[in-house]
Amino acid sequence: MDKADFAEQIISAIDGEEWELLDSGGPDSPVHGFYRDTLLELMDPYRFFDGDMSEENSWDLFNTLQMHLEETQPEKRDVHKFMIYAHMIRTYLDGLPMHPPEKVKYYTKARNGRAEYFCPKKDDSAVCSFCVARDCAPLYREWEKEIAQTAEKYGEKAASIRKCILESGFTQVGIIKTEDLHFYEEVRKYCVENACHHFNTTWACPPAVGTVEECRERTLGFDYLHLFSKSFYLPDAVDWDSMKPAVTEFKKNVDELNSRLKPRQNGMMILSNDSCSLCKTCTYPDAPCRIPDKLHHSIEGYGFYVSELSKQAGVSYFSGSGIINLFGAVLHNG
Ligand code: SF4
Ligand code: SF4
Repeated sequence: MDKADFAEQIISAIDGEEWELLDSGGPDSPVHGFYRDTLLELMDPYRFFDGDMSEENSWDLFNTLQMHLEETQPEKRDVHKFMIYAHMIRTYLDGLPMHPPEKVKYYTKARNGRAEYFCPKKDDSAVCSFCVARDCAPLYREWEKEIAQTAEKYGEKAASIRKCILESGFTQVGIIKTEDLHFYEEVRKYCVENACHHFNTTWACPPAVGTVEECRERTLGFDYLHLFSKSFYLPDAVDWDSMKPAVTEFKKNVDELNSRLKPRQNGMMILSNDSCSLCKTCTYPDAPCRIPDKLHHSIEGYGFYVSELSKQAGVSYFSGSGIINLFGAVLHNG
């Protein structure tokens, strides 16, 4: 069956009043925000669906979910329909795990131009058998190998940092000796031109992080730059707004890494993609940062070409069309 026809079927299975209810979205709406957003995205005029899918499998999923929800959430019968269609969209149109990342922390790996998902909660239940996410066993085996190789080449400390990075949700990781890094004044020009709209707005970006020379000196105070990245499958991303959920998820993973490593107490530093949005309004430049333990300088603001870093660390910069890789780094000693 054509995916576009399947999308049309779902659109017409929800009547006008129900679409209005979804669209109104207020706090009284019985439909959870995740299901509502997944359904409403179907109405986005810029969404196009290419390719085919199995109609039979999709209705098998429909019936399986219906039985599952009758059993587990009989009190929410009014919204079962929306939940089921949202799961069908995730599985057959978006190719994404059924549960949102806030509910289940799955890992993403870009391989051969495609995103693969691994879910620590995958079990042999009927519902999970339809989900695109695989169980984590093959991923954990890869990690064990990587961690052992890191220990052999860079020592136990680097290996334990790598383990924390992987467990925090970053599945692409590589190490560069800081003496091999290059810092480019010209990269700072992109900040000054303010294409990202963050220059001179928070403690995480230039000019607050210092000159490129000061960033270089700070970086060279450490032995290694441990680069990490996470892939996001966003085939319909056309602008900054459509990438926002990916950046938010990436930042959550960085916060988790921060809690595991406690970099300030342990003589390390985390650099992160993008700026800082922890507070509604940043104190910059009038008062010191409110949460210095969670403040991460922007990796781009240090004068690196991230494409060069990824090459040096052996981490893919470009993983295929529709896949966006976001980067960060841990600076640490041996
Ligand atoms: S594998 Fe199962 S638990 Fe994990 S996201 Fe998919 S449906 Fe949810
Ligand atoms: S933690 Fe708050 S005060 Fe500090 S840089 Fe981020 S937004 Fe600004």
